[in-house]
Parts: sequence; structure tokens; C-alpha cells
Amino acid sequence: MRLVHVKAELEPEELERLRLCTACGECIVECPVFKATGNSKHLPVNKGRALRRIVERSQGIVSSIQGQVPLREYFMRSSVSKVYECTLCGACTEQCKFDVKPDDLWYQFRRIMYENGFIPEGMKVLITAFKEKGDPYGMGRKMRLYWAKRAKLIGKIPINRKAKTVYFVGCTTAFTRINRVSAVSMAQILNAVGEEWTLLGDEEVCCGAPWLMIGDVNSAKESAKRNVEAIERLGAERVVTTCPTCFKQLKVVYPKLLERELGFEVIHATQLISSYLMDGMLSLREGIREIVYHDPCELARQMGVIEEPRFILTKLGVLKELEKRGLETQCCGGGGFLRAINEEISVKVAQLRVNQALETGAGIFATSCPSCKMNLSEGAKVLNTNIDVVDLVEVVARNIEV
Ligand code: SF4
Ligand code: SF4
Repeated sequence: MRLVHVKAELEPEELERLRLCTACGECIVECPVFKATGNSKHLPVNKGRALRRIVERSQGIVSSIQGQVPLREYFMRSSVSKVYECTLCGACTEQCKFDVKPDDLWYQFRRIMYENGFIPEGMKVLITAFKEKGDPYGMGRKMRLYWAKRAKLIGKIPINRKAKTVYFVGCTTAFTRINRVSAVSMAQILNAVGEEWTLLGDEEVCCGAPWLMIGDVNSAKESAKRNVEAIERLGAERVVTTCPTCFKQLKVVYPKLLERELGFEVIHATQLISSYLMDGMLSLREGIREIVYHDPCELARQMGVIEEPRFILTKLGVLKELEKRGLETQCCGGGGFLRAINEEISVKVAQLRVNQALETGAGIFATSCPSCKMNLSEGAKVLNTNIDVVDLVEVVARNIEV
């Protein structure tokens, strides 16, 4: 039996929250990964038990007397899939009545595993891509504007100029084929309303959220520093993102990582577009028969942006609602880099959500997130259905009334 010494420290407030867990199991009910696999290792309550076992050996009463208590290496290895096979969707936190905020603890769990060298193979691939090219897709700085080049937008859109609004594109939108259209659509919308805007171009780096999902806080800080410096250099008043992960990272996580307030506001594309509609700066053609909307976990549950996408959609056509929506939304399976860690589970989670959309009978399945679009499209493909999975910005750009 091999034993390992694991350095596992939580902040006092985090440790207190972990100890608040009564193992009541309420958080199990809506966990999308457990729904898809039925495997008890994916139960959030079991993640919590494993984290507690690790942390108490480092920070608990016994360790305060005897020093750090070793753990079985097998236990650590078996905890890898427990902690990383999770979408970080926050449904467990939504269910928990005891203020444990489990999804926040899962980030700390990943950090501890990463710092002690216990990470899944899929994460190793991401880390290599990051180290070689600076982004999780391994595309590199020169490819940041490929979407604009392909759409023949170079020369027609502002890049790295002083402007009121910065459009922060994000890696998943810029680098994945299925999502390039969202960046093009957002550029069209900003041009259509006469917004004074700019891209950061190749000054933009990954928002750093993937680093936190891996467990590397220092690299996430470095990303935050570089992006904030680039935005502040341009004197921007606000940053708009089409990606909810970038949105949360810039708005909520950056001030914590950098321990300072930012000199600009951060908003999601759906908030900006709904303000254009309300101010009469933009009008849309109504003509879509039925459209069903999937709330991205980070946008709706974690950032509270729920009404704006609906306001936009009702201007376009008939909105059909899923039973699990808003704060109670159900994950698409793409969060937490689950796709890179265990694609099979990730796509199973997506299929659950696509089936719910199919039940509504709508022909268009809209969302406001590049990862959700990618994963739900994959789920639709596996289910062999032709429901049209789109990002809301695409539908808006296609229906601008001139
Ligand atoms: S995290 Fe909350 S809901 Fe889940 S078992 Fe612990 S106390 Fe119960
Ligand atoms: S964050 Fe989501 S996937 Fe992870 S344990 Fe909680 S409910 Fe399950």
C-alpha cells in the first residue's frame, strides 16, 4: 500500500463551509452528471466526503497534533475522476440549504489535486496546449482573428483602438469552427447600432477560467493581468462578451484574483442587445415560429442573466420554455472542461437536455454560450435530430431590421 503526503489547504472560510455539509444528499437531485451516469462516484456528496478526507489530513485536529497524515495513493488516484468529472454547473449549490456552496469547493478540490500532481489525462492535453500556444485549443495568438479574416472583416472592424466598448471574443468563440459565426454576428450587431467599439485582436489572451478549472491559480492571475492591462490601455468604459465563462471571469473573478476594482464595466452580449432594443437603437424582424431557449449555467444560475435573453427572443418569435430554466437550468454537459476529460459523459448530459428541447416541438434551440452551443449540437447529432442549435447573437444578426 503506497502512501502519499498531500498538501491540501483551504481558506478558513472554505474549511468552515466544507464542515457545514451534513451529507443530507439534497444536492444529488439535480446533478446532471449523476443523472447521465447513475454512478455514485459522481454524487456531489461523495466529492465533498473525499475533499474532507484529504483536507482533514492536512488541516484537521489529528494533523495539528501528529503533523500531516499521509493518504493512500489509490484513494488519491480514484478521486481524480470524482472531482474532474463534473461540469461545475452549480446545480448542487442551488439545491444546498446549508450555504456549503459546493461548486466553489470543487474549484478548490481541483486546485489541491493539480498542486499535488493528480490530474486526468484530458487536462494534461489542455495544459500542454496552454503552455505551447497560450490557449486551451492550442491555436495560438496569430489565430485569434482567423474568424474575422474568414468573414473578410479585416479592415471593416476596429482592432486594438481606443474605444468605449471592447468586444472580448474568448477562445471558444474565436477558435471553434461552430462558434466563429457568433463573433461575426456580434461584430455585425455592434456595427449596425453604430457602437464605438473595438476588438483587442492579438492582445487578447484566454480569460483564464480554464486555468481555474484545471486548478492553476497563478496562471489564471497572469491571464487576468494581461487582459485587464490591454483593456485599460484602450481606455474602454465597458467590455462585452458573448461567452458566459469569460463574462463571469472578467466581472467576478478578475477583481478577486487581482485584488482590485476594474476600471471598466463587464456585460454579457444579451444585456447589451436588450439595452439596444429598449433604447430603440436596434429593431428586429419578427418571423421565427417557435424557439426554445437553454439558459447557460454560468449566465443564468451563476450570474443572474435570465430575463434579457427572453426579452430579445420575444422580439423574434414565439418563445417556448423548458421546464428546467433560469436558476434551475440543467447543464448542457460542456462546463468544467468535462468534454476534454470524459467526452462520453459530456455528450450523454447534452442528450438529456436536447431531448427536453425536442419535447417542446420547437425547431430552433437557442442558447447564449459557445460551449453550450457546441455541446448541445453534439447531443443533437448523436440523437440524429435536425433541431437547429444556435447562439442568440446569430439569430439577432440575421434578423436586424434595416
Ligand atoms: S453540500 Fe449541502 S446539499 Fe449537499 S450533502 Fe452537503 S449539506 Fe447537503
Ligand atoms: S457542479 Fe454540477 S456536475 Fe458538478 S457536482 Fe455540482 S451539480 Fe454535479
